[in-house]
Order: sequence, then structure tokens, then C-alpha cells
Amino acid sequence: MKCIYCNKEKEKELFNIEHVLPRMLGTFQENLTIKGHVCKNCNSVIFSSLESRFKEDSEEGIFWQMYNLNDTYQVRIREEFTKTSFMAGLGDDFFNDIFPFFKYKDGEHCIKFVDQIKIKNYCKDGYLILLIDNLKKIRGSSRFKKLIQNLEGTKNKDVSIFVGGQNDKDRSKLDEATSLLKELGIDYKEKKGKFTGLEGIEGKEFRISVNQNIGSYVARFLAKISFNYFSYCAFQSEMGHILFHDNFFSIKDYILGKKDLPTKEVVISIQQEPIIYDEKIARKRLVGHTIVFYKFNGEILSQISFLGKKIYTVNLGKIPEELNKDNFGCGHFFYPFNQKFSGMSQNPNKWNNGVQEGFGLFKSY
Ligand SMILES: [Zn+2]
Repeated sequence: MKCIYCNKEKEKELFNIEHVLPRMLGTFQENLTIKGHVCKNCNSVIFSSLESRFKEDSEEGIFWQMYNLNDTYQVRIREEFTKTSFMAGLGDDFFNDIFPFFKYKDGEHCIKFVDQIKIKNYCKDGYLILLIDNLKKIRGSSRFKKLIQNLEGTKNKDVSIFVGGQNDKDRSKLDEATSLLKELGIDYKEKKGKFTGLEGIEGKEFRISVNQNIGSYVARFLAKISFNYFSYCAFQSEMGHILFHDNFFSIKDYILGKKDLPTKEVVISIQQEPIIYDEKIARKRLVGHTIVFYKFNGEILSQISFLGKKIYTVNLGKIPEELNKDNFGCGHFFYPFNQKFSGMSQNPNKWNNGVQEGFGLFKSY
């Protein structure tokens, strides 16, 4: 057994199941996995840390956390390469520190307010958001104990609480948050408090601004998902051996962090224009994930996009001669809100006719 990333031969027990799309980007009715071809070290040690960096420090990762589909109790924002700023539209800068969440309802993505505790100084410039209702559910658990350890040394000035209330005298949720903080080892003392009525929210627009410079962690993460998808298709075509071709050594070493490449050589372009038929027709991006690969000028390029945000073009390397056929390529769209995915075709006759293309290396018709 040989790992498709580090190329090392290892015993069977040293292999893990690798999800083509990490579970942090949603789970699907059928989860695409690569079994017995990615070793535990690559999967759990190297890729896990890439995933958390992506989640905490990329535009897509941060938006994904705003949807909170996994119903977690904490959001972590690193602010190293990606800066967030919010305008709550509530007439006072005080409320701009509120972290917005999204809900998906009747085809619309709208902002929702969640009772929260914000803790600054996470990884120097970043912050943590603790979701109060979910935090209550894990009281006393090992995760709660771990959080106490992580929050050790938190200063009062770095803590803010944002909760809903009936009126400016209603302190019930505020008191509840304060006692939760006490259980977490933080003796919270209120310095400044403000109240705004719901009438302040109506008709107001919550503005979100996220500025991203893609760092090498994000580029490695994008390259990994592209290569995962390409590998999955190679196995479906019963051509797993191609993954050990010399042409892919460079991108694999880059993904593993063993080799440094200029980010621009890996992520060769970033664009916003839709690539999917339905998006072009609707003139808007679909809030889902797109992955495709194809050949261009003798290279294998992959385009990847999460939650209808930027489209990254990743260069996976020169195309091996064995794959250099006209119908080389494959593409899928993943929709995390109904857990479904569907194949994509470049043939206009197949657009919108419900025909499903499967996975494979030669599905570009
Ligand atoms: Zn490995």
C-alpha cells in the first residue's frame, strides 16, 4: 500500500479515509472518500492543520463559519491573511463588533443574530466567538474543559458579550453569559453596556467586508482539494497508478509543505465570473462548491470555488501523455444546503437536461 501524497509504502493500519471535500465544507448524501490511499500522517497531521488554517483565515472559511452548519459552539478567526470588518447598521460602532451568522431559508441567505461572547487576542490579531446556547450544551464535557485551558490568561478587556433582551433593564441573558464565563475561568466585569431596540434593526443593512490575501496555507489547501478530486476520478477510471507519475511530484510536495513554490505558480488566477451554466443564466453565483479539472496548454488545471465565492485556478502539473486525450476532464457542483452534488458537462446539449455525469478522468464531453 502506497500513499498517493508522500509516495511512502506503509502497512494497512497506517492508512486513513480521506474525504475529497473535507467534512468542514459540508457532508453529502454520498460522501466522496479515498480509502486506503492516503496515510494517517498526511491525512491527520498535515491536512488537518491545513484545514483549520483555511477555515480560520480565508474568505470562504470565514463565510462557512458564519453558516455554522455543523452547529458548533465556537468560531475562530485568525486575521493573519484575511481581515474581517462589519457594519451592523445599528447606529453605534459598539455593535459593529457583533459577529454575523447566516441562515438559509426559502432560497435566501439572510443574516441572523446569535447570542455570543467575543474574545479578542486569539493568535495575536484574531478573535474567538463563543455561541452561548451551544456552549451551555457542552458544560462539563471534555471539550468544555479544553476550552477552559485554551482561555487561560484571558484578560477582561478582551471580552465582550452580545445578547438579546426584552428591554434595557432585561439582564437575564447577560447574567447567564457572565456566569458561563466564570465557569470558564474568566471573572468578567462589565465596563460599558449598550442597548438597541429591534426597531433599530428593521430595514438596516448588515455589511460584511472580508479582505483576503491568500497565504501559502490557503494555496496548499486549494491544491490539496484539487488533487483529491483528480485522484478520486483517477480511481474511478481505474487509473490510480497515474497519481505516482513524476509530473505530480512537485504539486504533492508543495501540498505536504516539503517544497516551496511561489503562490502564483500554484494558484495561477483568481476570478469571479461564473463558470456554471445555471450561474450564467441566472447571472449570479450559486452558493455551493465547484470543482473541475481540464487540460490547457499541456497542463492540468483545476478550477475550484467554495460557497459561490472566488474561482481559483490551480495548476496540478504537466499532463502525462497517457491522459492527453480530447475528452480529458471532469467537473462537479456540490450543494451543501441539500447535501447533493451533480456532474457538469461542457456540452450545451446536456445542460439542464438532468443527465448525470459520473466521476472519471475522461468525462469532458
Ligand atoms: Zn502519506
